[in-house]
Amino acid sequence: MTHVMLDLETMGTRAGCAILSIGAVVFEPRNGSLRDEFYQSVFLEGQDKLGLHTSDSTLKWWNAQSEEARKVLTCPDRMELGSALDKFQEWLPINAYVWGNGADFDNPILAAAYAAFNMPQPWKPYNGRCYRTIKNLAPDLKLARSGTHHNALDDAKSQAEHIMAVAMRCNLTLA
Ligand SMILES: [Mg+2]
Repeated sequence: MTHVMLDLETMGTRAGCAILSIGAVVFEPRNGSLRDEFYQSVFLEGQDKLGLHTSDSTLKWWNAQSEEARKVLTCPDRMELGSALDKFQEWLPINAYVWGNGADFDNPILAAAYAAFNMPQPWKPYNGRCYRTIKNLAPDLKLARSGTHHNALDDAKSQAEHIMAVAMRCNLTLA
């Protein structure tokens, strides 16, 4: 199977919130490498009309994040959410395991965004995987961050490196 680490930057913490960016990377547990990357930032404007909410507490949280991370809110490369979802669907390898940071965060939030467009999520529902569960098997093995914390691609890459380190430590085979 192909493994994909997914990371979203969002305007909330539950399914149905607005999305600011989608980051993902293919990783290869057999040799510890990172492969194809995906990154797309999206316009917040208009997502409320799709029924995707912005949480006041998340808005406050964003105001406290680094200037570099907050560039997602204004960067010139943003596109409409629907186009970003199409682009992610085209990029995502067929039959990938999609790993999110928390069974209740990235995957269901992205699935809800697809549902807002009456589109099915582009991974099979039984191929969703939870990185948070795996990382808690080795709580002393800390994630080594590279790049900008809360940049969706940088987070996805750091998390992919981390899950492979945890798997090695715990002698887990991510088949
Ligand atoms: Mg993130």
